[in-house]
Amino acid sequence: MSSLTEKDRPIVQLLLSSGTCPRCILRFCCVGSQTLYRRPYKDLMKDLKEFLKNNEEKEDTVCFDVVDPPCKRIRLEHTEEGSDDLNHNGALQQIPPLNNENTATENSAVKVCNVCLGILQEFCEVDFVKKVCQKVNSADYQFTSFVFSVSLPPQLSVRECAAWLLVKQEMGATACPDCFKPAKNKQSVFTRMAVIKALEKIKEEDFLKHFPCPPSSPKNLCVPLEIQCNNGAVFVAGRYNKYSRNLPQTPWIIDGERKLESSVEELISEHLIAEFKADSFNFSSSGREDVDVRTLGNGRPFAIELVNPRRIHFTAEEMKGLQQTINKSSDKIQVRDLQLVTREAIGRMKEGEEEKTKSYSALIWTDKAIQEEDIAFLDDIKELKLDQKTPLRVLHRRPLAVRCRIIHTMKAEYIDEHHFRLHLKTQAGTYIKEFVHGDFGRTKPNIGSLLNRTADILELDVESVDVDWPPTLDN
Ligand code: ZN
Repeated sequence: MSSLTEKDRPIVQLLLSSGTCPRCILRFCCVGSQTLYRRPYKDLMKDLKEFLKNNEEKEDTVCFDVVDPPCKRIRLEHTEEGSDDLNHNGALQQIPPLNNENTATENSAVKVCNVCLGILQEFCEVDFVKKVCQKVNSADYQFTSFVFSVSLPPQLSVRECAAWLLVKQEMGATACPDCFKPAKNKQSVFTRMAVIKALEKIKEEDFLKHFPCPPSSPKNLCVPLEIQCNNGAVFVAGRYNKYSRNLPQTPWIIDGERKLESSVEELISEHLIAEFKADSFNFSSSGREDVDVRTLGNGRPFAIELVNPRRIHFTAEEMKGLQQTINKSSDKIQVRDLQLVTREAIGRMKEGEEEKTKSYSALIWTDKAIQEEDIAFLDDIKELKLDQKTPLRVLHRRPLAVRCRIIHTMKAEYIDEHHFRLHLKTQAGTYIKEFVHGDFGRTKPNIGSLLNRTADILELDVESVDVDWPPTLDN
């Protein structure tokens, strides 16, 4: 027991006699080496007793650091003290007692620790670790790293506090108060926070009136409520084309009623969800098009977050296969450049979106007849500044404002006396339909005002979204 020194001897003595387990004792003595905690309970108990007899120094062993992020959660809850029925709650699962050879001191059963309720006893031994491993294996996840996190019963904080007070009072120890800050836990519910808050506020003498110090020895081991597995999200990006004028980008649901049977995000995601065995997805894209607008050219960049995927390893070849599956499944959409990306990379799709340019093609109708020369002047207009008041059709979801947008270039293609096609390169965020018909004068200038006619838009296609992400793949 190399990490304990002479000054720890009275603390070890006191805690051991009050029913505290060896690993808790190590914590209260501020032993930082993980190696020690990994040793079997039986050995630790033997060593502590040895230590009390004789404080010989031994070689300390190497401390291994844990490297990876959080995923696995275990919730432990303590049943009523004195209750014999550990299974009174259907959700609780009793852990079968461990083999004596793994745990107990020579021939007596392990006394449940009065501080950790046995979490650092049985749940740190091989049998319970095996149980967790089984759960993880049966959940059938692909992963390269993992974090094991434990959600503890709130009363542990109280017991921890009582034990610390004991050490402080009896020993007058002032060392390492930082070791015993209540564990912050994201999963916490009100009760847990309340306990921690109360412990922060309560005066030591008041605490002692309400809680035995040292904490009483519990009759029951606390029981693991559930072992949950979660995998970090995986991100897939690509570009999509939309060839339908009857397909929204996201599900179109009004008052709980579905207006159109599918959407771009669903046509793409359903295949990803199945292959990655994910729970759900979040779709994002570089802008969006109206339900009746097609997206042609190289398509629109998109990214999909796959939540809690079981499968995460895909070769480039497999991603290509997945892309083919998506493309074969529908003639309304096509995807390209489908690839795995990092969460950070997705930011590149969104950043500077306002400065990006987009190219469109619009089929325009005019009320009065036009000749080719009537529209030729449009080709000479460069960097045309527009004032666009929020369009009437989006006013219910966008704030009313006047936005300045720029039409970089235009090219008119004469069709007949009442129709022409206009190719435009614009600043992202320009409302093209409104630029054509004027939206009752809310967009100025507009094609109608420029031609001195009433103009309307019959069809609109996105020809390109000039965002150089995700990287182009040669497929
Ligand atoms: Zn303990």
